[in-house]
Amino acid sequence: MSPPVDPAVALAPRLPSPLQRVYDERLAERGVELWLKRDDLVHPAVPGNKWRKLAPNLKAALDQGHARLLTFGGAYSNHIRAVAAAGAAVGLGTVGIVRGDELARAERNWSLARAEGYGMELAFWDRARFRETLRGLAEPETVRGLEERWGRCYVLPEGGTNVAAARGATEIVSELVADLPDLGPGDVVCCAVGTGGTLAGIAAALPEGARALGVAVVKGARYLDGEVASLHERGWGRTFANWRIDHDHHGGGYGRVPAELAAFAEDFQALHGLAVERRYVAKMLRCVYDLAGGERLPPGSRVTAVITGPADPVPGPGR
Ligand SMILES: *Cc1c(COP(=O)(O)O)cnc(C)c1O
Repeated sequence: MSPPVDPAVALAPRLPSPLQRVYDERLAERGVELWLKRDDLVHPAVPGNKWRKLAPNLKAALDQGHARLLTFGGAYSNHIRAVAAAGAAVGLGTVGIVRGDELARAERNWSLARAEGYGMELAFWDRARFRETLRGLAEPETVRGLEERWGRCYVLPEGGTNVAAARGATEIVSELVADLPDLGPGDVVCCAVGTGGTLAGIAAALPEGARALGVAVVKGARYLDGEVASLHERGWGRTFANWRIDHDHHGGGYGRVPAELAAFAEDFQALHGLAVERRYVAKMLRCVYDLAGGERLPPGSRVTAVITGPADPVPGPGR
């Protein structure tokens, strides 16, 4: 047997991702420094936190001799596209189960068309079945049901978050510490939160005194706090008190981009040259600007905003 492919060789991510300082008067006058951790540049098809989270899972799938990845996501899921591209690069087949059976008959949107372009097999499930299956992933019976249809496969939950994924996200902090060796009190590392895997990894890896701030992009998603705590418990056997999730900057819900937020993103791009991804990154940056100078990000704070992904090629509905 030939040795398994090394995902880091097959995909050749650009690591470490660049760290850039941003000068913005609106922040400077409130005593807040902003840096961007450009994870959006890590890989053209498996960018940002998707590479961080998939890398350990790809390795596990290959080490365990799997031939196929199976995962779940919405109609515009960044995770679905990333899995399709990564699987193609390392020689694993991919299955994507997509929320919404009505999509089966609709013309493929750009995101699903890309996933199929990488050879991913798509299945479209109604919302109830989708939800029930995700909820039951810990049950052997549920996995057996999936394998009856698709054969033995390495199953990744929606968003790709599991303990291995959170461990992968710790690399963001390892790189950051190399660039900012004094990272500690006064530092706040910010990221958008969809499922919490990225935030969990960042928080677990931060040096003493530094804090992590996650910005929920889902409305009323208090369960996310429990998700992060559970990842810490399962992956590190302890809790961490250095993180919190902001629940006030979801912009109306997952995939919603109010005009005010779009204008903020455009303004940021005009000023700083970064095309801001709207469904996650814009909400996180908006939160930083809102909190700067206040109790949560007091004067003297040094904020590192993790740019978890690039702007969509086709702006539009994010659901
Ligand atoms: C998937 C994604 C997130 C959410 O990450 P989680 O680990 O699920 O919280 C954030 N930003 C971008 C750009 C993403 O694609």
